[in-house]
Amino acid sequence: MSTQTETHRFEAEVQQVLNLVIHSLYTNREIFLRELLSNASDALDRLRFASLTSPELLPEGEALGIALEPNEETRELCIADNGIGMSRDELVANLGTIANSGTRRFLAELAEQKKHGEGAEGAPDLIGQFGVGFYSCFMVAESVTVETRKAGEEEGWRWTSKGDGEYAIEAAADLPRGTVITLALRKDDEELDGLLKEWRIREIVRKYSDFVEYPIQMEVERSEPARDEKGELIEGADPVVERATETLNSQKPLWARPKSEIEGKDYDEFYKHLTHDWKEPLEVIHFKAEGTLEYTALLYLPTERSMELLDPAHHKSRVSLYVRRVLIQKECEELLPSWLRFVRGVVESADLPLNVSRETLQDNPKIKQIGKRLVRKVLETMQSLLGSDRERYETFWGGLGLILKEGIYHGEDEDQRISELCLFRSTHGEGWTTLKEYIERMPEDQEAIYTIAGPALKTLEGSPHLESLRAKGFEVLLLTDSVDEWILPRLTEFDGKPVRSVDKGAIDLEDEDQKKEREEKQQEHKELLDAMQETLSERLEGVRFSGRLEESAAVLVTGENALSPQLERMLRGSGQEVPKQKRVLELNAEHPIVRGLKKLYDVDPKTPRIAEVTEILYGQALLGEGSELEDPGRFAKLVTELLVDSVGGK
Ligand code: ADP
Ligand code: MG
Repeated sequence: MSTQTETHRFEAEVQQVLNLVIHSLYTNREIFLRELLSNASDALDRLRFASLTSPELLPEGEALGIALEPNEETRELCIADNGIGMSRDELVANLGTIANSGTRRFLAELAEQKKHGEGAEGAPDLIGQFGVGFYSCFMVAESVTVETRKAGEEEGWRWTSKGDGEYAIEAAADLPRGTVITLALRKDDEELDGLLKEWRIREIVRKYSDFVEYPIQMEVERSEPARDEKGELIEGADPVVERATETLNSQKPLWARPKSEIEGKDYDEFYKHLTHDWKEPLEVIHFKAEGTLEYTALLYLPTERSMELLDPAHHKSRVSLYVRRVLIQKECEELLPSWLRFVRGVVESADLPLNVSRETLQDNPKIKQIGKRLVRKVLETMQSLLGSDRERYETFWGGLGLILKEGIYHGEDEDQRISELCLFRSTHGEGWTTLKEYIERMPEDQEAIYTIAGPALKTLEGSPHLESLRAKGFEVLLLTDSVDEWILPRLTEFDGKPVRSVDKGAIDLEDEDQKKEREEKQQEHKELLDAMQETLSERLEGVRFSGRLEESAAVLVTGENALSPQLERMLRGSGQEVPKQKRVLELNAEHPIVRGLKKLYDVDPKTPRIAEVTEILYGQALLGEGSELEDPGRFAKLVTELLVDSVGGK
């Protein structure tokens, strides 16, 4: 076998992480062991799963496990697993570039802190909270050797690095299957001595990795009092010292333990292990389903939204599926819908076949049944949080509400179980409201729930569309999440009350007399209104008198079935072809401008002023709703001319 060694450079981002890790005088460096043990456990999971379809990868009767071997003389610590191992290409890809989302998030968080002027001082803390995966070991090691042979392959490889920009790879003969990582602990640092001591290793393993399902074993020294053949203690004799292999972790996965034996911190630690999140979870849901279909579920709601949740590439839900201790799929999207993708956790069942594949998962009725129950449990948990701790619920909603609302868009709100959980801003005042609370505040003569959607709260609050509703004391929900535009067509009613967009179609707030009067006026000025529509016929479907204005002169209204301007913009933004939507310009018949227009028209129906004023009213209506002017230059010119006139400058 060739003994040629190749040297490679780390990807720039890796080096950035390594520099931080190496130069951090961090007191909580022990977390490197958590990271390496979790990688070993992942490697064992993957081997066990692969062996379901390729049994030759795992000879029958062979036990899977992890071994720790400290050596005080050489100052080395070895972590060995007989898991899946890595091929040469995998070594390069996994240890030379940033593969892991936890590390990526660490870098993003660091950049965020820098923006707020906290600099790199915050880095050590972050390392402890996140763990930066494999690279954490450079916090304690001056050099690291990874020897690995992939299951099913003949060739093994040795990877070495001092974390100084380069790593080397060479072929290595006679390696067992799996991975052995050897850390040469830094010599200049006495504090690290403890990492080679039995009691200290035992303590770290218990603290962070107790629930790892595979045995983490170490050879320990045991001293027993000396006994004679009959088992009687021998007075005065030296104790007998033996070396024995001991399993350091209790190995029972957390979800399989009885709830009464689990403490809050155990749940938190497992959550962090599972998610790379460094915050405590918001809620823990742990239950055992019994009966015809038995399974255990341990689910977590996070406190905050992590970045990848809005990344279109990560729209799958992320609960892991185990069948009789074998991890079948890490992110099993069949268990929860994508609008609950922020829920993390584990489901384990003994009632599913071990050979379930991705394809058969999809239409497995048992999975469907489990999924249904999980959704119900999660929504019930949110419901009870909403009732019991409004403040915490609002924090959760602020980050994750927009993802939950996607469920309405997907048509999964038949029984309104999602809309009941929704919080909205409203004209009622600062803070959030539920739909139920909104309805409770409705005056007797209010028949519908009113909404207005747009990108900014301030713009919505000042929108002329709200004028007549305000005058009547009707509250309006202000919808500012981009997903709101998509859910409105689905959220047509709540608790028997229709939901209406105040900027769509005709709005019926007038009594019979008012309506009649408006229609008569409209008929009377039909020619003027038609002439105005003519001047902007490409953008306007019609010009009419409005029942929704009190102070403003004009407002733009979208047809009942037309796309709203926001939606139109969003679709265009995503590269879709959308026909230009024509809208209706509604005028306040009592407004001085409109009265003036009537006069102008009576004197000279052909005067160009009418077209100019129409254009300005149209532009103002666009600005009022937060839309952009199509031709700002022209708008400014028209307004300037009017101003020149009004100050008598001509
Ligand atoms: P993560 O575990 O989050 O993916 P790490 O930085 O901890 O990120 O590890 C990077 C990758 O290196 C892993 O995803 C895995 O593919 C590989 N790896 C690390 N340790 C082992 C191991 N003991 N056996 C097999 N592969 C490993
Ligand atoms: Mg890892």
